[in-house]
Amino acid sequence: MDIWTTIKSPVQSLEDEITREHDISVHIKREDLNHSEIIGNKLRKLKYNLIEAKQQRASALLSFGGAYSNHILALSAAGRIFNIPTIGIIRGEELLKAPLNPVLQQAKLNGMDLHFVSRESYKRRAQANYLVSLQERFGDCYIMPEGGSNQLGVQGAAEIVEDIGSDYDAIACACGTGGTLAGIIKGVCTQGFLSSKVIGFSVLKGGGFLRNDIENMLPEDISTRVSWHVNTDYHLGGYARSNTTLIDFLQWFKATHQIELDTIYTGKMVYGIYDLIQSGFFKKGSRLLLIHTGGTQTAKLMMGNDATI
Ligand SMILES: *Cc1c(COP(=O)(O)O)cnc(C)c1O
Repeated sequence: MDIWTTIKSPVQSLEDEITREHDISVHIKREDLNHSEIIGNKLRKLKYNLIEAKQQRASALLSFGGAYSNHILALSAAGRIFNIPTIGIIRGEELLKAPLNPVLQQAKLNGMDLHFVSRESYKRRAQANYLVSLQERFGDCYIMPEGGSNQLGVQGAAEIVEDIGSDYDAIACACGTGGTLAGIIKGVCTQGFLSSKVIGFSVLKGGGFLRNDIENMLPEDISTRVSWHVNTDYHLGGYARSNTTLIDFLQWFKATHQIELDTIYTGKMVYGIYDLIQSGFFKKGSRLLLIHTGGTQTAKLMMGNDATI
């Protein structure tokens, strides 16, 4: 699987009128460039899960997601590329009646076996007895939680900060399940970058659960040694919600830096960081590293080119 040795994720400098005015040095790590199909942080989270599933000679990889899930899309592509059947348990029985949206169409084209379940069943996705029933139904498949956020996913995400080379005052990334943030916290600890603060930006409303979930994904000595927190101020109404201020900002960002951001994840994090810079949250001279976790590919499939700015 030599795809893993060729992961390309350069760090680029973002200099513009805002960073200059506030004397903040901002860099962005382009995880969105790391693979053309298994994109962004999902590649990182799948890495050790795929290796483990191959070692176990699992009959298939099974996981969970919503109708526009980046994880489901990435998993289906990984299944095709590494020649392992994939099964997607998709939230929403009503989707069965409608034509497949472009994200699920692509997942199906990649060979994924799609199963639609009610919202009630979907809520049971982490319960042991539900997982046993899936195992009985689908055979000796390898089951990954939603977003690929298990221990092996966190281990893969930790590698996001392996090659950054130096300490930053803050490292920021968008949070859905929090698995990627947990990985970054772990990576920061193992690399000895303990003066870096790690900041997650919840893209969901009511992201208060994230602190606890992330603590549960990490050994205690790691979660207490690293200084980290989850900012819940920039969900802009909730998952996949946006507003014209965000859209205007992302347009300005693209025109200034020639970097596309999605409106669901990375866009909200970068917007939040720039807002915090302007409010004086970071001391003058601070060095920040933003993690571009991808998302632009799904956004494009979903709504044509309008979803990325
Ligand atoms: C899935 C995803 C995230 C969230 O990752 P978690 O590990 O679930 O917190 C962030 N950004 C993008 C682009 C994603 O697709």
